[in-house]
Amino acid sequence: MGVDVKNWNSDAFSRRDVLAMAATASAASLAPPALRQAMAKAPLQNMLAPAWYRFKIGSFEATVVSDGPIVLGPPQSDLLKGVSKEEFARVLADNFLRSDNVLLEQNVLVVNTGSELVLFDTGSGSAKMFGDKVGRLIPTLQGAGFDPKDFDAVILTHTHPDHCWGLLGATGAPAFPNARIYLTRADLDFWTDESKGSDDFMKAMIAGTRAQLLPLRERLTFIRDGQEIVSGIQAIAAPGHTVGHTVFMISSSGQSLLNAGDLAHHQVLSTERPQLEFAFDTDGKQAVASRMRIFDMLAAQRIPMLGYHFAWPGIGYLARQGAAFRYFPAPMQTAP
Ligand SMILES: [Zn+2]
Repeated sequence: MGVDVKNWNSDAFSRRDVLAMAATASAASLAPPALRQAMAKAPLQNMLAPAWYRFKIGSFEATVVSDGPIVLGPPQSDLLKGVSKEEFARVLADNFLRSDNVLLEQNVLVVNTGSELVLFDTGSGSAKMFGDKVGRLIPTLQGAGFDPKDFDAVILTHTHPDHCWGLLGATGAPAFPNARIYLTRADLDFWTDESKGSDDFMKAMIAGTRAQLLPLRERLTFIRDGQEIVSGIQAIAAPGHTVGHTVFMISSSGQSLLNAGDLAHHQVLSTERPQLEFAFDTDGKQAVASRMRIFDMLAAQRIPMLGYHFAWPGIGYLARQGAAFRYFPAPMQTAP
């Protein structure tokens, strides 16, 4: 490493600076080649860490895989009912979150039970209804070592676009060609019913969901409340966000994780103010009741949860705080 003398602006440096830099320069030129290289100006890497995170639930191997964040733009009034856009922005800023652009992650969970490879929800697929950062699931799954052909089951928490529109790839072929697909009959019936298209947004949601689910009809299996879908994975009905919204308790060797789907949409607002109804809830009051019931159980039993839309990777604990909760993100593990 040499010192680029011609770029020096003598006015900008004191004599002491110049002497110090000269000393550094001569030390560098005397250093062995490996050290000289280590002192070189490193290029920016301009890439992120892979968006998957692996951990254990007892003997099960779990991996959170991101489909990319949903970009909602500036805070809007009544995304959470009764919260003005100004108040929404203030709460975000108070929590050191971006207050100019609301981001909701899409934390897709993979569980390998040892005998079954299970995917929970599929992200948004090739649809760009939720911005251009979504639809990353398949390459990120592959980067995490999964072949989409190897999944035995895809379990849907509900059939909103950001949870099931990745069932078919961009060409219309099944993205998980060997998987059984689990969902509630109530969600299938509601979200494929064209008479529910009360406005253009609902019409678009229903048309897109019909296009995803109806071609796969013979591979769909209906979930019942309390059913053990595969050994160690139990369905718990948590309706309100959609008519059939379901959460899943995943248990192995004395450890558990609740995959909470869209029981809550934001790690601060939906936990510290759990009574807030979300704009896209089919029945907001029922969604609040489901959230309170399951949050109470998680807090009392100190069971961690995965929030599909919570900040990456979306795993944490809830503690009761008066009539509300506080969310404690679980530390990410950095060594086996
Ligand atoms: Zn969602």
